[in-house]
Amino acid sequence: MFDKSNKLLIASMFLLFCFTSCKTQEEKAAEIHNHAFTIDTHVDTPYHLLDKDFNISEYHAYKRGGSRVDFPRMKKGGLDGIFFAAFTSQRERTAENIQIAREKADELIDSIYTVCDRYSELAEVALNVADGYRLENEGKRAIYIGLENGFPIGTEISEVERYFKKGVRYITLCHTSNNDICDSSTDRHGAEFDGLSKFGEEVVKEMNRLGILIDVSHISDSSFYDVIKLSTSPVIASHSCARAICDNPRNLSDEMLKALAENGGVIQMCILDDYVRAPDKNSERYKKEMELRERYRKMGKMTKEEEQKIWAEWKQLQIDYPKDKPTVADAVDHIDHIIKVIGIDHVGIGTDFDGGGGLKDCADVSQMMNITIEFLNRGYSREDIHKIWGGNFMRVFKQVEDLAEKVKA
Ligand SMILES: [Zn+2]
Repeated sequence: MFDKSNKLLIASMFLLFCFTSCKTQEEKAAEIHNHAFTIDTHVDTPYHLLDKDFNISEYHAYKRGGSRVDFPRMKKGGLDGIFFAAFTSQRERTAENIQIAREKADELIDSIYTVCDRYSELAEVALNVADGYRLENEGKRAIYIGLENGFPIGTEISEVERYFKKGVRYITLCHTSNNDICDSSTDRHGAEFDGLSKFGEEVVKEMNRLGILIDVSHISDSSFYDVIKLSTSPVIASHSCARAICDNPRNLSDEMLKALAENGGVIQMCILDDYVRAPDKNSERYKKEMELRERYRKMGKMTKEEEQKIWAEWKQLQIDYPKDKPTVADAVDHIDHIIKVIGIDHVGIGTDFDGGGGLKDCADVSQMMNITIEFLNRGYSREDIHKIWGGNFMRVFKQVEDLAEKVKA
């Protein structure tokens, strides 16, 4: 016969066993996910902020409005921090167009401050690593600001510091075409500088000095290697995948991944379908999308109405020709590959939600837990998951901050 204390011991051992093994995979994932500092380093949500009818403090069903990020959905998806990209598309590099881009970027940045002030109980603009962790403890979303495309800088080096003072903490050096800073990976006319321009070299040094993360997503391979060679701080690819898994110039080759790891940087896996899985170029959807992109590219200065019209057409295209989206498992194949090539310390997540990002089973920010469930299904440890969801990126961000401090001191 057991005495009372033995019974108690057996009962508590059973409880402990249940705690560790009776939980569902979803519960285990939620427990790990909710203890991590989680950050998504690239979304294009600020364009929605310019829409008077969009209220970021309200929960939106993705299937109805099409938007993929708002504060309540971030909370549901267990996402603590996010980089809102102030994105401007590349136009002909005239003084007038640069001025227009500058005003647009400023308007987008100002709109981020406006909503964070208005809904200060839900979110705050974050300016450094410490802010992110503080806001996580306060149960608020940390909203960081990135500048996607250095086009608004033009050739004015003082603009880099002006954007830093406005709260910009990374700059994606270029977008789909070459600019005054560097060559793009997707410019239809090919290379112009064979990497960074002379001015681009100045920009890299200035970003190092100030402590702005250098984002190598979108830039050409030569630009990438120039940046790696020149930058005294580790760099990030805020939203890119592995080229070995999906052959797209926007993705990083294994050689680039190795150079990035050597530099101490981090690649943030993007979940935009074309970067995750190569598209079917014969589909009706692909042709319609190309038509729209072509028309958009040809337009010069757009009025607000034209901008809204093209945005509405884009949204309609998603409804009329829904894409056969890749899945979370397809996306995590990229992370598996990156880890195989460069280890666990140089990878994170940057979805590109509201800029084309989204998977069949992770359509919006509320479903981010599905990525963690996939990690668990593949045997990733708690420590691995914490590194991917934010640990790695925040380490790089801190190094960039510290190196800038040294320069300032
Ligand atoms: Zn992008």
